[in-house]
Amino acid sequence: GAAPAPILNVSGLGRRFGAFVAVKGVDIRVEEGSIHALIGPNGAGKTTVFSMLSGFLKPTEGRIEYRGTDITGAGPTQVARRGMIRSFQISATFAHLSVHENVRVALQRKAGLAYQFWSPESRLDRLDARVAELLAEVGLAAERDTLAVNLSYGRKRMLEIATTLAVDPDLLLLDEPMAGMAHEDVERVVELIRRISDGRTILMVEHNLSVVRNLCDRITVLQRGEVIAEGSYAQVSANPQVREAYIGT
Ligand code: ADP
Repeated sequence: GAAPAPILNVSGLGRRFGAFVAVKGVDIRVEEGSIHALIGPNGAGKTTVFSMLSGFLKPTEGRIEYRGTDITGAGPTQVARRGMIRSFQISATFAHLSVHENVRVALQRKAGLAYQFWSPESRLDRLDARVAELLAEVGLAAERDTLAVNLSYGRKRMLEIATTLAVDPDLLLLDEPMAGMAHEDVERVVELIRRISDGRTILMVEHNLSVVRNLCDRITVLQRGEVIAEGSYAQVSANPQVREAYIGT
């Protein structure tokens, strides 16, 4: 039968900066429920693609479809409302609030006016129950009262993921979630991403190829703004152009 409709379907995506072509003719199909990686050497255009998908940068060419709807040129808030969220959009953590308070703030921002119609007690009860669920999901329950500023680097990133999950995304764009992490934190975040991918779709930029191999179902490889390979890890890592790009960096 026909392949299922992708949650995200990017076709012919391009972006020029003046005369410079940063991204050209990029096609990406992200299947619902998958963990999909976007990889490539520095300057390949990964950040530019993420900025276009999340609505921070307007494409100069091509089309972005989310759940079958054309969202090309939509702004970040519109894109987020549809359910596609880039991790740092929500994740600005407040250093001198506790882990618990940070997640509560994220939930309150999402809930907006709806909570004003509840009594103060039930409002806080419901919020705090949801905060507790999210902290358990990301593995930060024991740190609920720790100030964000006192968390390890790895745990700060886990808190960012918790605040992002607070807004219930269907598709999460993760920008190098393991960057700068110690080995044991990398393992924890791999586990965390695997756990949160249950019922959600994840598109991530990641440099660590062993993480990509262990975690990701599909991989799109960019080089100089163009897709040079797409497929499973085995498929893309067998591609001579990919091997050259990686050995060459
Ligand atoms: P990556 O994230 O893969 O390292 P980027 O998307 O950051 O790559 O950059 C791709 C190319 O586009 C690079 O050559 C970069 O210098 C260029 N670029 C990115 N943003 C701009 C900009 N705002 N103005 C001009 N050139 C840019």
